[in-house]
Amino acid sequence: MRLLIVEDEPALGDLLRRALERAGFAPDLAATLGEAREYLALGGHAAIILDLGLTDGNGLDLLREARRAGNSTPVLILTARDAPEDRITGLDTGADDYVVKPFHMGELVSRVRALLRRPDAALGVDLALGNVALHTATREVVVAGAPVALTPRETSLLEMLLRRHGRVVPREAIEQGLYALDNPTTANAVEVLVYRLRRRLLACGADLALHTVRGVGYLLAEA
Ligand code: CA
Repeated sequence: MRLLIVEDEPALGDLLRRALERAGFAPDLAATLGEAREYLALGGHAAIILDLGLTDGNGLDLLREARRAGNSTPVLILTARDAPEDRITGLDTGADDYVVKPFHMGELVSRVRALLRRPDAALGVDLALGNVALHTATREVVVAGAPVALTPRETSLLEMLLRRHGRVVPREAIEQGLYALDNPTTANAVEVLVYRLRRRLLACGADLALHTVRGVGYLLAEA
Protein backbone atom coordinates (compact mmCIF):
# COMPACT_ATOMS: atom_id res chain seq x y z
CA MET A 1 0.00 0.00 0.00
CA ARG A 2 1.57 3.27 -1.10
CA LEU A 3 1.84 6.20 1.29
CA LEU A 4 3.15 9.70 0.79
CA ILE A 5 5.36 11.23 3.48
CA VAL A 6 5.98 14.98 3.21
CA GLU A 7 8.77 15.94 5.63
CA ASP A 8 11.66 18.34 5.11
CA GLU A 9 13.90 17.17 7.97
CA PRO A 10 16.04 14.47 6.31
CA ALA A 11 16.63 12.46 9.51
CA LEU A 12 12.95 12.40 10.49
CA GLY A 13 11.86 11.70 6.91
CA ASP A 14 14.19 8.73 6.79
CA LEU A 15 12.99 7.41 10.16
CA LEU A 16 9.37 7.68 9.05
CA ARG A 17 10.07 5.98 5.74
CA ARG A 18 11.88 3.09 7.38
CA ALA A 19 9.30 2.61 10.14
CA LEU A 20 6.47 2.55 7.61
CA GLU A 21 8.38 0.19 5.35
CA ARG A 22 8.87 -2.17 8.29
CA ALA A 23 5.13 -1.98 8.86
CA GLY A 24 4.59 -3.24 5.32
CA PHE A 25 3.84 0.01 3.50
CA ALA A 26 5.48 1.45 0.39
CA PRO A 27 6.16 5.08 1.29
CA ASP A 28 7.17 7.86 -1.11
CA LEU A 29 9.16 10.58 0.62
CA ALA A 30 8.87 14.19 -0.50
CA ALA A 31 11.02 16.88 1.14
CA THR A 32 9.26 19.87 -0.39
CA LEU A 33 5.78 20.95 -1.43
CA GLY A 34 6.99 20.86 -5.02
CA GLU A 35 8.00 17.20 -4.78
CA ALA A 36 4.81 16.37 -2.91
CA ARG A 37 2.70 17.89 -5.70
CA GLU A 38 4.53 15.75 -8.25
CA TYR A 39 3.86 12.61 -6.22
CA LEU A 40 0.22 13.57 -5.73
CA ALA A 41 -0.21 14.10 -9.46
CA LEU A 42 0.88 10.49 -9.95
CA GLY A 43 -1.76 9.40 -7.44
CA GLY A 44 -2.29 6.01 -5.86
CA HIS A 45 -1.48 6.88 -2.25
CA ALA A 46 -3.62 5.28 0.43
CA ALA A 47 -2.73 8.01 2.97
CA ILE A 48 -0.56 11.08 3.34
CA ILE A 49 1.64 11.96 6.33
CA LEU A 50 2.08 15.70 6.12
CA ASP A 51 4.53 17.97 7.92
CA LEU A 52 3.35 21.58 7.97
CA GLY A 53 6.55 23.64 8.17
CA LEU A 54 8.29 23.02 4.85
CA THR A 55 11.09 24.93 3.15
CA ASP A 56 8.93 26.06 0.23
CA GLY A 57 5.66 26.68 2.08
CA ASN A 58 3.04 25.32 4.45
CA GLY A 59 1.75 21.76 4.23
CA LEU A 60 -1.75 23.10 4.80
CA ASP A 61 -1.64 24.66 1.31
CA LEU A 62 -1.08 21.21 -0.16
CA LEU A 63 -3.95 19.80 1.89
CA ARG A 64 -6.24 22.62 0.78
CA GLU A 65 -5.31 22.10 -2.88
CA ALA A 66 -5.87 18.37 -2.65
CA ARG A 67 -9.29 18.69 -1.00
CA ARG A 68 -10.35 21.37 -3.48
CA ALA A 69 -9.39 19.07 -6.31
CA GLY A 70 -11.66 16.39 -4.85
CA ASN A 71 -8.77 14.29 -3.48
CA SER A 72 -10.13 12.56 -0.37
CA THR A 73 -7.01 10.57 0.54
CA PRO A 74 -6.79 10.44 4.36
CA VAL A 75 -4.24 12.89 5.70
CA LEU A 76 -2.40 12.76 9.03
CA ILE A 77 -0.64 16.00 9.86
CA LEU A 78 2.51 16.35 11.94
CA THR A 79 2.23 19.42 14.13
CA ALA A 80 4.53 21.13 16.59
CA ARG A 81 3.68 20.98 20.29
CA ASP A 82 3.84 24.77 20.55
CA ALA A 83 1.44 25.43 17.67
CA PRO A 84 -2.01 24.17 18.75
CA GLU A 85 -3.63 26.47 16.16
CA ASP A 86 -2.05 24.29 13.44
CA ARG A 87 -4.06 21.32 14.70
CA ILE A 88 -7.31 23.21 14.55
CA THR A 89 -6.60 24.74 11.15
CA GLY A 90 -5.41 21.37 9.89
CA LEU A 91 -8.56 19.55 10.93
CA ASP A 92 -10.71 22.38 9.55
CA THR A 93 -8.84 22.20 6.27
CA GLY A 94 -9.64 18.52 5.87
CA ALA A 95 -6.95 16.59 7.74
CA ASP A 96 -8.24 13.34 9.24
CA ASP A 97 -5.90 13.11 12.21
CA TYR A 98 -2.77 14.69 13.69
CA VAL A 99 0.27 13.67 15.68
CA VAL A 100 2.22 16.12 17.80
CA LYS A 101 6.01 16.22 17.39
CA PRO A 102 8.01 14.66 18.93
CA PHE A 103 6.00 11.47 18.61
CA HIS A 104 6.55 7.79 19.25
CA MET A 105 7.07 6.01 15.94
CA GLY A 106 4.90 3.07 17.04
CA GLU A 107 2.05 5.45 17.75
CA LEU A 108 2.39 7.06 14.35
CA VAL A 109 2.24 3.69 12.60
CA SER A 110 -0.90 2.69 14.50
CA ARG A 111 -2.53 6.03 13.70
CA VAL A 112 -1.82 5.43 10.01
CA ARG A 113 -3.31 1.94 10.26
CA ALA A 114 -6.38 3.38 11.98
CA LEU A 115 -6.82 5.91 9.18
CA LEU A 116 -6.70 3.14 6.61
CA ARG A 117 -9.34 1.17 8.48
CA ARG A 118 -11.88 3.98 8.10
CA PRO A 119 -14.13 2.52 5.46
CA ASP A 120 -14.90 5.77 3.71
CA ALA A 121 -11.36 6.91 3.47
CA ALA A 122 -8.94 4.36 2.16
CA LEU A 123 -11.07 1.81 0.40
CA GLY A 124 -13.91 4.11 -0.47
CA VAL A 125 -17.58 3.29 -0.49
CA ASP A 126 -20.12 3.09 -3.24
CA LEU A 127 -22.87 5.61 -2.73
CA ALA A 128 -25.86 4.82 -4.89
CA LEU A 129 -29.35 6.13 -5.48
CA GLY A 130 -31.57 5.25 -8.42
CA ASN A 131 -29.33 4.55 -11.39
CA VAL A 132 -26.54 6.81 -10.09
CA ALA A 133 -23.45 5.50 -8.27
CA LEU A 134 -20.39 7.30 -6.95
CA HIS A 135 -17.27 5.62 -5.60
CA THR A 136 -15.85 7.90 -2.93
CA ALA A 137 -12.20 6.89 -3.28
CA THR A 138 -11.85 6.76 -7.07
CA ARG A 139 -14.34 9.64 -7.58
CA GLU A 140 -15.95 7.63 -10.38
CA VAL A 141 -19.53 8.50 -11.20
CA VAL A 142 -21.65 6.00 -13.10
CA VAL A 143 -25.14 6.68 -14.43
CA ALA A 144 -27.18 3.81 -15.83
CA GLY A 145 -24.03 1.73 -16.09
CA ALA A 146 -22.01 4.31 -18.03
CA PRO A 147 -19.20 6.44 -16.56
CA VAL A 148 -19.93 10.15 -16.46
CA ALA A 149 -17.23 12.84 -16.34
CA LEU A 150 -18.06 15.46 -13.73
CA THR A 151 -15.73 18.19 -12.49
CA PRO A 152 -14.14 17.53 -9.05
CA ARG A 153 -16.47 20.08 -7.47
CA GLU A 154 -19.58 18.65 -9.14
CA THR A 155 -18.50 15.21 -7.91
CA SER A 156 -18.04 16.51 -4.35
CA LEU A 157 -21.46 18.14 -4.43
CA LEU A 158 -23.03 14.92 -5.69
CA GLU A 159 -21.25 13.05 -2.88
CA MET A 160 -22.66 15.41 -0.23
CA LEU A 161 -26.17 15.08 -1.64
CA LEU A 162 -25.97 11.29 -2.02
CA ARG A 163 -24.73 10.91 1.56
CA ARG A 164 -27.79 12.78 2.79
CA HIS A 165 -30.29 11.84 0.13
CA GLY A 166 -33.89 12.36 1.09
CA ARG A 167 -32.87 15.12 3.49
CA VAL A 168 -32.30 18.79 2.88
CA VAL A 169 -28.63 19.76 2.70
CA PRO A 170 -28.34 23.41 3.79
CA ARG A 171 -26.81 25.79 1.28
CA GLU A 172 -24.25 26.94 3.89
CA ALA A 173 -23.09 23.37 4.48
CA ILE A 174 -22.43 23.01 0.76
CA GLU A 175 -20.57 26.29 0.66
CA GLN A 176 -18.42 25.38 3.66
CA GLY A 177 -17.80 21.88 2.39
CA LEU A 178 -16.80 22.81 -1.13
CA TYR A 179 -15.14 26.19 -0.92
CA ALA A 180 -12.14 27.22 1.17
CA LEU A 181 -12.49 30.14 3.52
CA ASP A 182 -9.68 32.09 1.93
CA ASN A 183 -11.24 31.68 -1.49
CA PRO A 184 -14.25 33.99 -1.32
CA THR A 185 -17.04 32.75 -3.55
CA THR A 186 -19.49 34.80 -5.51
CA ALA A 187 -22.94 35.11 -3.95
CA ASN A 188 -24.47 32.51 -6.25
CA ALA A 189 -21.55 30.05 -6.57
CA VAL A 190 -23.53 27.22 -4.96
CA GLU A 191 -26.61 27.96 -7.07
CA VAL A 192 -24.52 27.86 -10.25
CA LEU A 193 -22.88 24.60 -9.20
CA VAL A 194 -26.24 23.01 -8.37
CA TYR A 195 -27.64 24.19 -11.69
CA ARG A 196 -24.72 22.62 -13.56
CA LEU A 197 -24.96 19.32 -11.67
CA ARG A 198 -28.72 19.17 -12.23
CA ARG A 199 -28.22 19.68 -15.96
CA ARG A 200 -25.46 17.05 -16.13
CA LEU A 201 -27.59 14.50 -14.31
CA LEU A 202 -30.53 15.19 -16.58
CA ALA A 203 -28.40 15.01 -19.73
CA CYS A 204 -27.03 11.57 -18.92
CA GLY A 205 -30.39 10.08 -17.99
CA ALA A 206 -30.12 9.97 -14.21
CA ASP A 207 -33.42 9.06 -12.58
CA LEU A 208 -32.83 11.51 -9.73
CA ALA A 209 -34.37 14.87 -8.95
CA LEU A 210 -32.32 17.62 -7.34
CA HIS A 211 -34.89 19.79 -5.59
CA THR A 212 -34.34 23.36 -4.43
CA VAL A 213 -35.84 24.00 -1.00
CA ARG A 214 -36.19 27.74 -1.20
CA GLY A 215 -34.28 29.64 1.47
CA VAL A 216 -32.89 26.42 2.99
CA GLY A 217 -30.91 24.25 0.64
CA TYR A 218 -31.12 21.28 -1.68
CA LEU A 219 -32.51 17.78 -1.60
CA LEU A 220 -31.65 14.81 -3.79
CA ALA A 221 -34.29 12.11 -4.27
CA GLU A 222 -35.35 9.50 -6.77
CA ALA A 223 -37.43 11.06 -9.49
CA1 CA B 1 9.45 20.75 9.06
